[in-house]
Amino acid sequence: MKAMNLVLIGPPGSGKGTQAELLREKNGFVHYSTGDVFRDHISRKSAVGAKVEEYVTSGRLVPDDVVLEVVNAFMAENIGKPILFDGFPRTIPQAEGLDKVLAAKKLAVDMAVLVDLPDDEVVTRLTARRQCRKCGKICNLTFKPPTVAGVCDDCGGELYQRKDDTETVIRDRLSTYHQQTEPVLHYYSTQGKLKRIDGALGRDKVYQEILRLIA
Ligand code: AMP
Repeated sequence: MKAMNLVLIGPPGSGKGTQAELLREKNGFVHYSTGDVFRDHISRKSAVGAKVEEYVTSGRLVPDDVVLEVVNAFMAENIGKPILFDGFPRTIPQAEGLDKVLAAKKLAVDMAVLVDLPDDEVVTRLTARRQCRKCGKICNLTFKPPTVAGVCDDCGGELYQRKDDTETVIRDRLSTYHQQTEPVLHYYSTQGKLKRIDGALGRDKVYQEILRLIA
């Protein structure tokens, strides 16, 4: 895999995280999810965790300066590797911030892939989503329920529902997505870098489609 900088965009619950994990495991990408980074800071009760907790649990966007601070720290260690950005950039200033840090090393975002899904499907998927507290694996009570209720099939850890996966918060996250993240699609589209995939195709077909795009 060449040192590609790939951005995965899509509404919450479109399957970006699942695709990003597949691309990490099978194709050697470094998977960088700002949402995972923030949840980790919150659970470690770090200074960044204290700054972002209220935003993350209520589904509002963390301010751009805080986001770019953690991204720049990550980039200092990882720039030049094949990186897959999941859930970032979510605003135009974040997209510009990413371009700036890449340009300093004569790099750029190579492609932005939109994994698209209608709002009602997002709500159906996310209210049934559960995550393992121990290994972080995501499962869905509708598509692939765990063998034992509340227990992770992979590691036996406890499955929990994210505080931001309740219907009211999901609707708020969707409206934030439409207002603040959709302009980022336009940003990449005008640069000829945006590709769209129908998230309703399901995990395996979406993955094949992404492989075809980046081949
Ligand atoms: P996610 O796991 O990507 O759905 O992110 C969960 C939450 O973390 C979001 O609802 C935001 O509160 C916060 N977050 C994650 N990534 C970003 C970002 N790039 N910009 C602002 N807030 C973010």
